[in-house]
Amino acid sequence: MNRVVNYQQCIKESYQYVKNLPSKGALADYIPELARVDDSKFGAYMTNLDGEDFGIGDDLEKFSIQSISKVLTLTMAYQKLGEKIWERVDVEPSGAKFDSLILLDTNKGIPRNPFINSGAIVVCDILVSQLGDPKKEFLQFVRDLADLPELEYSKEIASSEKSCGYRNVALCNYIKSFGNIENDPSEVLDFYFLACSLMMTCQELSQCFGFLANRGRRIADGKKIVSSSQSKRLNALMMTCGFYDESGEFAFGVGLPGKSGVGGGIVAVYPKNYTFAVWSPKLNLKGNSYLGMKFLEDFTTRSELTIF
Ligand code: GLN
Repeated sequence: MNRVVNYQQCIKESYQYVKNLPSKGALADYIPELARVDDSKFGAYMTNLDGEDFGIGDDLEKFSIQSISKVLTLTMAYQKLGEKIWERVDVEPSGAKFDSLILLDTNKGIPRNPFINSGAIVVCDILVSQLGDPKKEFLQFVRDLADLPELEYSKEIASSEKSCGYRNVALCNYIKSFGNIENDPSEVLDFYFLACSLMMTCQELSQCFGFLANRGRRIADGKKIVSSSQSKRLNALMMTCGFYDESGEFAFGVGLPGKSGVGGGIVAVYPKNYTFAVWSPKLNLKGNSYLGMKFLEDFTTRSELTIF
């Protein structure tokens, strides 16, 4: 830590702060299985580079990580393709909803960034081309990131999303019409839905993202996942694009790179310091966890543990 601060106390105070706030927002009911989640849940877990972790609330309960998986699929594809990956997907904020089609036409099938659905679908296409068994190998990749051999997809959530994932089907076919999808769209989407369905706790998520706080290396043993330059770029993308058309608001309020998912999870990274995973299922109108954002804003303001 670059500042002596009682962060456990700060976490407890931020937890009390959000517990007293009105719980606004709504569950992501466009995926039927996600509409069944208990919306009163709240968990938070911090993993520090100095080895002192701390969690609170429902931090050990599994939830669907949804778009947080986009950072993990990108990391794996970046490992495989290196800088050539940016020929397939851009690095600019979209200023549009996560499932928007509008910029694809202007940009001839090159998604604005890898953290909106269109970009993540292209990243999944890259992994389908690169890997023999993408579903199995991606799961193993995430398990290895933080030594979590028990991690699993939720087949129920993946098939629930598949049953009504019309916008993602449209996105994938539209991108293919520009030649930026190499494989069969249904194979790419099956993998995409499964990756989104990964079930993790706040503790597991914050540990899994530790390499992004540690210059691309696993915290436990220093094993290199990506280079420090790649880790810088992944953090930069989370800072500018991690919250769709609310990325500016997250940077403004929280002051950290991060990534959200419609399961209500948020991961935030303070490079060289800590990772934080928060979970509260109710989403604001932009599709980001309402109380999760409030918690992180309060925590970084209270503790001054922010990159700015
Ligand atoms: N699986 C979700 C979808 O494609 C992920 C969206 C999200 O978490 N923002 O709609």
